[in-house]
Amino acid sequence: MANLFVPGPVDVNAEVMAAQTQPMLPHRSAEFEEIFHRAENNARKIFKTQSRVFLTASSGTGLHEAAVRNLANSKVLACVNGAFGSRWQAVAESNGKSVDIVESDWQAPLSAQAIAEALGQQDYEILILVHNETSTGLVNPIKEIAAAARNASPNTLICVDAVSSWSGDLIAMDDWGLDLVLTSSQKALALPPGLSLAAVNDRALARAEKVSNRGWYFDFLRLEKHRLANSTPATPAISLIYALDLQLKRIAEEGLENRFARHAALAEMTHTWALENGLDLFAPEGYRSQTVTTIDNKLEINVADLNAFLLERDMRIANGYGPLKDKTFRIGHMGEIQLSDLEVLFAAIEEFLKK
Ligand code: PLP
Repeated sequence: MANLFVPGPVDVNAEVMAAQTQPMLPHRSAEFEEIFHRAENNARKIFKTQSRVFLTASSGTGLHEAAVRNLANSKVLACVNGAFGSRWQAVAESNGKSVDIVESDWQAPLSAQAIAEALGQQDYEILILVHNETSTGLVNPIKEIAAAARNASPNTLICVDAVSSWSGDLIAMDDWGLDLVLTSSQKALALPPGLSLAAVNDRALARAEKVSNRGWYFDFLRLEKHRLANSTPATPAISLIYALDLQLKRIAEEGLENRFARHAALAEMTHTWALENGLDLFAPEGYRSQTVTTIDNKLEINVADLNAFLLERDMRIANGYGPLKDKTFRIGHMGEIQLSDLEVLFAAIEEFLKK
């Protein structure tokens, strides 16, 4: 049974959790290198890329920093229509980059046209944007934006945050022409937090060679040198890699398409339930996330009281994020969650509403 209906960290399958308790291996051993190699190869299938995948010990924000430090000397175009687009912008600024912003209302998708226009006005080294805005439950049309961006400015590298969608919704890196896609372990992948994954193509790696002050820990060129030896420059999060290896095997067994379909069905069920219970959905139709639903709290439900009620039944949902606290609440439906788990959750919320 699922307990955490929050958009990460989420419940971890018991066997995957237990995989972390396997004895440590030295990371420069043949046994560990084999696991690392297999995990990277299997991760590539979910990114839908032939390019390399870096497995790093940090949460997703670490890779926000890695992307801007490795791929831009200065000029960054940041797209913002939610809290995590805003976070990446702040990360770029705090790393001394010159950042311009294309903003849209938090209830509207990013506009491919507005992004293409901005790219046509100046030479930006990278475009940074979020696929699945966890704050708003909105999914941005990355394929369409990437096509428009590539057309407007072929040399701008397209960098996408797929933190809360990866393995729960399609992100086709090579087909969509993305140069970097990043994610972290505690969302739809359903691992404990602490591991991050970045798929980086050859164009991006070639750019890194021309960028100074890339730092040390996340330097893509150093990561690549060690990746070729199936390892990392510093000690990897070995127990999390054990768990990743097993989880990627489980995902292959479920089938990636089936996994996406399960997430779509979870989202659909959540949307229908909310609308039938007098609530509204924050994100507009056609742009609703498969992994998290942000519900407009027009009934003015006391979210803290609701969560206290749910907690007595071993469940939790999430309040709205930042400025949306109490005005919205969020139901995470990602990772291991099944339709039957949502039935239990919704029955409990309905019981609370009747009180
Ligand atoms: N990007 C998105 C879309 C997120 O949802 C989050 C976290 O919720 C982050 C980035 C930050 O990721 P992390 O907490 O793994 O650093």
